[in-house]
Amino acid sequence: MAMTILHVRRWSTDNAVMTLEELYKDLHSHPELAFAEHRTAGIAAEWLAGAGFTVTTGLGGTGVAGVLRNGDGPAALVRADMDALPLREDTGLDFASDVVTDDARGDRTPVMHACGHDLHVTCLCGAAAELARDTGSWQGTVIAVFQPAEEIGAGARAMLDDGLYAKTGVPDLALGQHVLPWSTGSVLYRSGPFFGAAESWDVTLHGRGGHGSQPERTVDPVVMAASAVMRLQALVAREIAPADKGVVTVSRLRAGHAENIIPDTATITLNFRAYDPDVQRRLTEGARRIIDAEAAASGAPRPPEYAVLSSFPVTVNDDALTARLAAALEPSREIDPIMGSEDFGLFGTDAGVPSCFWGLGCAPEGSPGIHSPQFAPRLDPTLPAGVNALATAVREVLPPRG
Ligand SMILES: [Zn+2]
Ligand SMILES: [Zn+2]
Repeated sequence: MAMTILHVRRWSTDNAVMTLEELYKDLHSHPELAFAEHRTAGIAAEWLAGAGFTVTTGLGGTGVAGVLRNGDGPAALVRADMDALPLREDTGLDFASDVVTDDARGDRTPVMHACGHDLHVTCLCGAAAELARDTGSWQGTVIAVFQPAEEIGAGARAMLDDGLYAKTGVPDLALGQHVLPWSTGSVLYRSGPFFGAAESWDVTLHGRGGHGSQPERTVDPVVMAASAVMRLQALVAREIAPADKGVVTVSRLRAGHAENIIPDTATITLNFRAYDPDVQRRLTEGARRIIDAEAAASGAPRPPEYAVLSSFPVTVNDDALTARLAAALEPSREIDPIMGSEDFGLFGTDAGVPSCFWGLGCAPEGSPGIHSPQFAPRLDPTLPAGVNALATAVREVLPPRG
C-alpha cells in the first residue's frame, strides 16, 4: 500500500501542511490521560472542521463529534479513542513521550500512548479527510467521534449521556478499530462477542486495629483479606461451567504500615472479565457474597465497602455487518475473541443499531503488546492500512446511489 495516502493537508489556522505521519508523531509525543485530552481533542476538531465537518466539542468532557452530510442515506458513526496511559515510555523512539503530569488523584505520573489511541486518532483524521475529499464514492452521513477516557471505561458513556446523538443524529451503525500487535497491516475480525466484559472494584475491608502482640483485642483485616483473596479464586474454578470463560484477578492488596501494628483496614482491588454477561454477573455477584461472608466470618465491625473503578460491556459484533466488512476489507482474517475490553460497544447498543469493531494488525508477531512501555506500532504499513480500513468500511456501508 502506498504511503502517499499519508500526505494529507492539515487544515490549520496557520495553513501548515502536516502529513498523517507527522500528526501521529506529534500526538505520540504529547499523550494525555483520560478526560484530559484537551490538546488531542483540539487537533481532532481542527482536522474535522477543516475537512468540512460540522463539529461539536466538549461532549462528555473532552469528546469531539463531527458530522458530514453527503446526500440521502444512512448515517455511519466511526469512532476513535484519544486517551493515553500512566506509563513511562521505553521505546527509544526519537519521538517518544517524556510527558509527566498530574493524574486525576493529583499524583505525578509519566504518560505514554501505549495502547495506540494516537494511531486511532490519526487514522480517523485521515479517513475523514479522505471521505470529505472523495464525496463521489459514498452517500449518506458520516459521524466521526473522537472519544475520551476509553482506558477507564467512562468516555463513551460520558459522551452519550452528554447528548451526543442529540447533536449528531442517531447513527444507523457504528464502526471502530483497535491496533493489535501482530499481522501488521491486516484487518483482524470476529463475529459476535469480540472483546470481553470487564469490571474493576476497590473493596475496603474493615477490621479493628491494635498492637501486634494482642490479636485477641483486634479484628485482623489482613487475615480477612487473605481469606477472601484465596476463596475468590474458587469462583472461576467452581462456580462457572468448564466451557465458560472468565477471569478474577486480585491486582492489588494493601494493608498496614508497621511491623507491630494490626491495621484497621485492608483494601483489595479486583478485576473481573468474561465474554458472556451472565458469566460476568455470576463472577461479580459471587465475589460480593464471598467478601461479605469473609468479613462476617471474621467478626468485622462493619461490612465491606465497594467502589466500582470501571465497567466495560461485552463488545459484540453484528454478524451480517461483520461478514460484509470482512469481505470488503483486505487483507483480513478471522481471529479468536480477546479478553481485553472496550467501551466502543455502547455507541451501537445505546442507539439500538449494529456495530462492528475490528483489530488492525500493527506489528510483527512477538512484538511488545499494548500497555507495554515498549509498545511501538510499525507505521508503515499500519497507518495507511488503518486509514484505508475506515474509509473502505464507510464506502461499503454507505454506497453511492444511482
Ligand atoms: Zn488500552
Ligand atoms: Zn486501547
